[in-house]
Amino acid sequence: MSLDDLYREVVMDHYKQPRNRGTMKQADVVVEGTNPMCGDEVTLWLDVEDGIVTEVRFAGHGCSISQASASIMTEAIKDRRVEEIEDIITAFRGMMLEGTEPDEALLGDGVALEGVKQFPVRIKCAVLGWNTLLLGLKQFAESGGKPVEASHRE
Ligand code: ZN
Repeated sequence: MSLDDLYREVVMDHYKQPRNRGTMKQADVVVEGTNPMCGDEVTLWLDVEDGIVTEVRFAGHGCSISQASASIMTEAIKDRRVEEIEDIITAFRGMMLEGTEPDEALLGDGVALEGVKQFPVRIKCAVLGWNTLLLGLKQFAESGGKPVEASHRE
């Protein structure tokens, strides 16, 4: 099996069996993101305790890349410190947008999305969840720890 095939399988596995899919009644961060070019939507719920994301859920619909990427992201960030999560987002955006070397220690299954770069119109699908998360964390930091609701558009 080639690496491309393996990565495709990882992405399809997250699409068919999404991790941390669902909603939360109450959360410290509720942030929704849309990618109108493709019709993708992702909403994230996060609980943050002592600077650690202790719970994360996502819901949404759209293409397999957008939904698989959100699932992969939730797995990569759960139980991590916000500062670490910022590094993870930077590593993912760097891989997708700037061609930096994928860092599997930070990205986990996220490295499987690198191939999406070959299809520039789909890059927005892959980064949607990550940019949505980035906005939510930024607004939460600015709120001084009070619950926030935000929305992001690619
Ligand atoms: Zn899409």
